Order: sequence, then structure tokens, then C-alpha cells
Amino acid sequence: MKRLIATVAVLGLWAGASAQAQVTEEMLANDQADTSQVLTNGMGRHLQRFSPLSTLNKDNVKNLMPVWAFSIGGEKQRGQETQPLIYDDVMYITGSYSRMYAIDVKTGKELWQYDARLPEGILPCCDVVNRGAAIYGDVVIFGTLDARLVALDRKSGDVVWNKKIADYKAGYSYTAAPIIVDGLVITGNSGGEFGIVGEVQARNAETGEMVWTRPVIEGHMGTLNGEESTMTGTLNASWPGDMWKTGGGATWLGGSYDAETDTLVFGAGNPAPWNSWLRDAGQKNDGSGDNLYASTRLGLDPATGEIKWHYQTTPREGWDYDGVNEVVAFKDADGNSKYATADRNGFFYVLNRADGGFVDAWPFVKDITWAKEIGDDGRPVFNEEGRPGDPSKAADGNKGEVVFSAPSFLGGKNWMPMAFSQKTGLFYVPSNEWGMDIWNEPITYKKGAAYLGSGFTIKPLYDDHIGSLKAVDPMTGEWKWEYKNDAPLWSGVMTTAGGLVFFGTPEGEFIALDDETGEKLWSFQTGSGIVGQPITWEQDGEQYVAIMSGWGGAVPLWGGEVAKKVSYLNQGGMMWTFRLPKELASAN
Ligand code: CA
Repeated sequence: MKRLIATVAVLGLWAGASAQAQVTEEMLANDQADTSQVLTNGMGRHLQRFSPLSTLNKDNVKNLMPVWAFSIGGEKQRGQETQPLIYDDVMYITGSYSRMYAIDVKTGKELWQYDARLPEGILPCCDVVNRGAAIYGDVVIFGTLDARLVALDRKSGDVVWNKKIADYKAGYSYTAAPIIVDGLVITGNSGGEFGIVGEVQARNAETGEMVWTRPVIEGHMGTLNGEESTMTGTLNASWPGDMWKTGGGATWLGGSYDAETDTLVFGAGNPAPWNSWLRDAGQKNDGSGDNLYASTRLGLDPATGEIKWHYQTTPREGWDYDGVNEVVAFKDADGNSKYATADRNGFFYVLNRADGGFVDAWPFVKDITWAKEIGDDGRPVFNEEGRPGDPSKAADGNKGEVVFSAPSFLGGKNWMPMAFSQKTGLFYVPSNEWGMDIWNEPITYKKGAAYLGSGFTIKPLYDDHIGSLKAVDPMTGEWKWEYKNDAPLWSGVMTTAGGLVFFGTPEGEFIALDDETGEKLWSFQTGSGIVGQPITWEQDGEQYVAIMSGWGGAVPLWGGEVAKKVSYLNQGGMMWTFRLPKELASAN
């Protein structure tokens, strides 16, 4: 008996030691299957945001109750778009104004916080948000609004390294969650409204030393181990004159890693400036004005940063349809591996996993004015009347023809991530039904100044909703159901094997829907608008769910008539954690 106790004690000690181990590549690769922790943004490297947990399900979700709430405090209560990470009994979250917090996941007590001291003159375009951290080894890494990358000791919060991504005075910033692949920490950049140049960078995650850089606008040179590597694309193949030098294509939403094909998948934002006539010298619609690789998904070699493939969703882009939205790897109903992405431009795309090649595309919003359809070759069939006019052809040479465009520039879907359910085979897409008046104006580049050459006003399209969560079948593009919301949706979505679809609304509700019918099964009022990203995990045999609440993001700043409509919403900054108590798991 004594010996048995000793053995148990040793096992217990070993388990304790192992729980505090460094985060490894294998653990990141296994993140979706291991429901005891959340180590990646996207709840698994394929960004499915699907949990195999079914302890919490359609029958018992009504018993889900708050267990603790954590305020990020201070006066800096702006948009809270973070996705928490969970490891070793600690929750890591980022907050507005480049802050990070470590919280005891059992008690909700703060363990440490880090506040980046931001300089005067930062230029975040679309609120002072941050979307989360990466974890690797003994560090947590996140990006800041002055375009730096900071690695903190995960136990103490002490700075391990701090590196500059780019010059914030030129309009660069950083808001996405970094990703980790084979010991590299990989980031993009933000600043597409300032004539920056989009780039993907890979650093040694332990030291912060740069390994490679890959600009995503044609004509710019990449680097590998401090030396020039290859030029991106072919100089002036799809950009006139010197326009490529300030060509935009911000890689601001980060990327994903597909281990099956050993490919990093990143998206590039709008070409700069917004006025498309300035970037389309020939105006022939023959590819010469496409402006590669703006508004494009790119497959990169994670070891070198070389471009393996590209697919441009909006050639000759002129409506701020950034091509950055997340690309989700999934198995379709026939068991084939594919990618899916729901673009700002209103189309839901299915792509080949091997080479990013076009498979099919369907609208996921009700009204699209800029294109008639996506052709069989993957190229949009433009609706030329939907293109804002050329100001150089206007009578006064200053304001081109105003057109009404849908989706609005904030997109059929913006950054807020969709989810895929392995249980239903459906994607749950947080979309918005809105349009805009848009026109072009002359513009010249000036460092650190907005570089748009456009004016705009966003307008609702329907009286009873802007927000629209849709269950989309990736085999047919069919919408199985739609959940309408008054305010525009701006939060991430999560699905579970328990048949639940979680998301939040600007009105403050954290909601669980039935994944097959869209019926509301549970909701909780969090006290401020939700623009965060839900997660779930299992702890001591019980299922937990968490969401950050705190209204903000681009809508209140840029939403035109929609911003006025939602100006009553209160700001906040509260991390809410919920639990299904064991004794209520089987209760009905
Ligand atoms: Ca943009």
C-alpha cells in the first residue's frame, strides 16, 4: 500500500512538472484536439474555431453560468478584439492600447500585466485594438500599435525581447495575433490606409532575430538571413510607374499555417491609394492594372518566405476590399481537403489546398454591386457602373462620379473570424448587410498621412438588420439559415461538437445558437458590446467558455450613418468566463 502511494506521488509530481513544460511545436500542432488548453489563435492551426468538446450541448447550455469576470481597468476602454490563450492554468489576453494580462484561470485574479508605453503620433487607422498573442517556449508574444513585437516571460511578464516591425511614423502599426511555425514567429503589418507596403516577417521566436521578410507588393525585394532573396512578382507587370512603391497591401490580419502542405497562408489588403484609376494606367481590364499582390491570398514557404501561389480576390480593387480575411482549411462532405474564405467583397470562396487555385465562389451577402459574379477562371466579372468615377474626368477635376456600392468598404465580412463545424460541415459566417456612397478624389503620397483619394458614407440596406450570421454550405454556397442582428456583427464565431455556435453582438449579448436551425438557445448580457473572439476548454472535467466584452473597432469610427445608429452603445473592457457545473451537465 505504501509503495502504491509513493508511485502515485511520483506520478503526480511528474504530471505537475509536465504541465509547466515549455510550449512546443508538437503542442501547437495538436491544439485543436487537446481540449485542456488553447495555444493558437483560431483554436487550432486551421483556424476552424471548432472544439471537439460536447460536454456542453444543446440540452444543457441553459445551465451555463458566469464563474468570473476580469476588468482590464484604466481609462483606455476601447474595442476589445482579443482571443484568449489558455495554458498551465493561466489565461493570456491582450487589451486596447497594446496591453497584455495574465489571469489565474481558476480564480480570475490577475497574475501580471504589461502596458506598452506607446509614443505620441501612432497612426492606428481603425481603433486601438489588439487581437491576441502567440505562445511558444516560455514566452508570450504580441504586437503593438507602434509596430513592435514584444516577447514576455509567460510566468513573470518580464520583457524577453522587443523588436521593431516597421516605422510607426510612416503609418505602420500592428494588431493581429502572431503565429508560430517551427520556432519562427510570423507577423504581417498594418497601415494600408497610409501608403505603407504590406510584408510578412519571420523571426526566431526565442531571440526575435529576423530570418526572412517577404513584401507582398510586386517590385519589392525580399530578404533571407540578412541578404536580399528574390523580388516579389515582376516589376511593373501590374502596377504603373512608381505607384508600387507605396502600394499598400497591408497583411494586417496575420495568417495561418497548413502543415499538410507546409504552407503559410497570408492575405494582403487593399492596394493604395483607394482611387483605382491612379493604379490602372492602361484601363484595359487585361491584368495590367490588377495591382498584384494587393487584395490577394498568398501561399508562402515558411522556411524562406518565397511565394508558392497566389489568388487575387479583387483585381484592380477600388472599394477597400482588403483580401486579408482568414483562410480556413477543412474537409468537405466528400472528404476532400479545401480552403474556404469569406472576403470583404461579399463572396465566399472555396480554393484548392495544394496551390490556392480557384474552385468556386458564391455571394454570402444579399446585395453585391461591384461584380456580377466570379467567373469560372476565378476572375470577377466586373459591373463597370459599380466603379467609383475617375476624378480626372470630372468637370472640376476634383470629385469623380459618386456611386452606391455594396458591400460597404467595411465589407460583407470584416476581420471577425468565421467558424467551421466538423459536425455539420457548415461554415458560420459573421456578415453585414450594408452599402456606401463612394467617390474618388485626386491624392498624392505624403509620409504619415492618409493615402485614400476617396470619400464615402456607409448606409444600412435593411430596416430590421445589418448584422447577419449565416450558416453556409461550402459544397453549394447555400445559406441553411440566417440569424439577423440590428447592429453590425464584429465578433468572432466558435462552433462545438455539442452543436453550439457562439458569438457576441455590439448590443452586449453573448449568444449560443443551435448549429442546425439557428435557434437561440442561450444568451448572457455582458454589459458592453462584444467584438472579441470566443474560446472553450475543459478543466477538472468541466467545460468552460470565455469571451471578451468591450465595444469599439472600426464601426464607431468609420461607420457613417451606421455609426450614428449605434452611438448609444457603451464602451467597456471585461473578460467573462463561464462554466457548466458538473452537477448541471446532465440536468435538463
Ligand atoms: Ca483597407
